[in-house]
Amino acid sequence: MMFRALAVIVFGLISTGWSAEPVKKVLFIGTDGTRWDALEAAQTPHLDALIAQGALSVGTEIIAPRETKGDTVSGPGWSNLLCGVWPDKHGSVDNAFKGTHYAEFPHFFARIKEARPTLQTASFSDWGPISTKILSHADESVGEDAHGHAAYVEADARLTKACVAHIREKNPDAVMLYLGQVDETGHAKGFHPKVPEYIAAIERVDGLIGEVVAAIKARPTFAEEDWLILIGTDHGGVGTGHGGGRQIPEIRRTFMILNGPSVMPGKIEEQTYQVDIVASALTHLGIALKPEWKLDGRAVGLKTAKP
Ligand SMILES: [Zn+2]
Repeated sequence: MMFRALAVIVFGLISTGWSAEPVKKVLFIGTDGTRWDALEAAQTPHLDALIAQGALSVGTEIIAPRETKGDTVSGPGWSNLLCGVWPDKHGSVDNAFKGTHYAEFPHFFARIKEARPTLQTASFSDWGPISTKILSHADESVGEDAHGHAAYVEADARLTKACVAHIREKNPDAVMLYLGQVDETGHAKGFHPKVPEYIAAIERVDGLIGEVVAAIKARPTFAEEDWLILIGTDHGGVGTGHGGGRQIPEIRRTFMILNGPSVMPGKIEEQTYQVDIVASALTHLGIALKPEWKLDGRAVGLKTAKP
């Protein structure tokens, strides 16, 4: 009788999928032009919760450790973050997008599709060049091109709604959400922890991030999923700008937040770089980083990535 009961329990656990590996998924939220010290000064309960249960790197470099060109602006920044290589490879050195090599060094969705064609990818962005220049291999793309502070506030909210609906109704494996209002506010009012409007923008973005995280947790299949949530930015700022900031720590040194069951919680002590986002995302999805991709980053903050 004992054996029979045990056999029933074991069979029950197997048949309900208890022993199955969770389905790995990735969400990368990018908040443009967000200074770490301002984020620290702001009231950001949703980011605080992600950090408290996740991993945090402060001082993430936006400048390559080797000699490369590249201004401290969005074009190179988002190319570093989304392609996983530095400007001497992807070729974006300013916001003109001339002489870029996105065919050879594409958006990381292309690497996902090459390795696992059935995985579903989705991108939401209100800075035009992300969807029109950098993005490729997206099954779903909502791209806007906002101009001015008020427009970005509205566009960020609209995009977040679209992203939340997609996470609720579809089954994406890799999602990228770009939010532009913090940078736009910095250009209008100043990039500094003492600028109330800049802080308010960060706090609004925190609320939007909270909505997306809640949507993930509300998925009916959430218990069988292993989401890696990545948060990062393309540069900081001083005064009302950030161009020409290669020597300015408040511009070139940023942050990276990782959250999820596969994340090694705590502060990441090693130096991190913008290009590590793609390597971490692909590694989490179980995609081996092929040498011919010539990626510059490496996975950080993951339990499996420890040497
Ligand atoms: Zn930017």
